[in-house]
Amino acid sequence: MLNIHKPFHQKYRPLNLDELVGQEFISITLKQALISQKIAPAYLFNGPRGTGKTSSARIFAKSLNCLSSKQPTPNPCGKCELCIQIAEGNALDIIEIDAASNTGVENIREIIDRARFAPTQARWKVYVIDECHMLSTAASNALLKTIEEPPERVVFILATTNPERVINTIQSRCQKFDFKRISSNTIFNNLSAIANKESIKFEDQALKLIAKRSNGGMRDAQSLLDQLSLLPNGVTTKNVRSLLGEVSENDLTDLINALINNQPESLLISCNNLYDAGNEPNEILVGLLNITRDLLLKTLNNNYSEMYYTSIEFQDELNKFSYNISKNRIIDWHNKLKNVDYQIKTSDNPRLWLEIHLTSLLEENINQ
Ligand SMILES: [Zn+2]
Repeated sequence: MLNIHKPFHQKYRPLNLDELVGQEFISITLKQALISQKIAPAYLFNGPRGTGKTSSARIFAKSLNCLSSKQPTPNPCGKCELCIQIAEGNALDIIEIDAASNTGVENIREIIDRARFAPTQARWKVYVIDECHMLSTAASNALLKTIEEPPERVVFILATTNPERVINTIQSRCQKFDFKRISSNTIFNNLSAIANKESIKFEDQALKLIAKRSNGGMRDAQSLLDQLSLLPNGVTTKNVRSLLGEVSENDLTDLINALINNQPESLLISCNNLYDAGNEPNEILVGLLNITRDLLLKTLNNNYSEMYYTSIEFQDELNKFSYNISKNRIIDWHNKLKNVDYQIKTSDNPRLWLEIHLTSLLEENINQ
């Protein structure tokens, strides 16, 4: 029989509020609301993508309705009919709406009208409106009317990545929860746990790199791991970089040294070596900008932190660069390279343009 692969971000979705990663404050507050039976008619979950908003909404729906408990519980069983239906997204009384694709007011009105009817199967009807900032003004007003006079046993959970665009009158009627970007350390721990469970071969550094590049979003990190796990040699730093279209920081060392030391010939040779290794001109430019951005940080403060784009192993190299370049010159490079990526992306000869722009960073009459 064909074995259907379940994506990691679904397979390892948190099952209860204790398993919600990186959002401790939210988890504690929602648990307390369930224990004390203080259920608000509307919640606004705000935060970047992949930080657990939809997962939390589903967990909350299960917590309100789990059949193994007579009342809302912070520990839904995950096994009863309702818990299973909610997890699979097909419970009748849990209505998930993606506002990004259902912005018409008729649609929303029709759905909200149904909120007045008692739940058919569950204790609580739960409306999860994802990307709620995408609702049209008319649709938002229809929603507002309902949450101003909320029907009994109905909970609205509004999720958004863009809270400024949710109208104030709705915001002020919701209990607000701000989902934070998840720290790269927390993401790393989660990825290692999954990789071990799934018997995936991995390098620690590779998982750290995925964690760092996911910008605090667990779902993106888990999807990357999922994709990389299919490669025969496992999850290596090299594989992560090539999947992300990134040039290895060490491979850029020669190029940066040529720039710092004003050596046009080595500059072009190192560019050529990078092309030959399969790196695209735009990837080279982005890699260079990211490293010089770290170099700028280094000239201001020498402490390595999560803010750095480069890995901790690269810091010796970065230190060496920093002895030979001034802050002003780095800023000058950034000014000159501003908008160059657009030109390279749209040009018929990106290679040539990269070389021209990089050569323009060299200073005249030095080392001659
Ligand atoms: Zn249950």
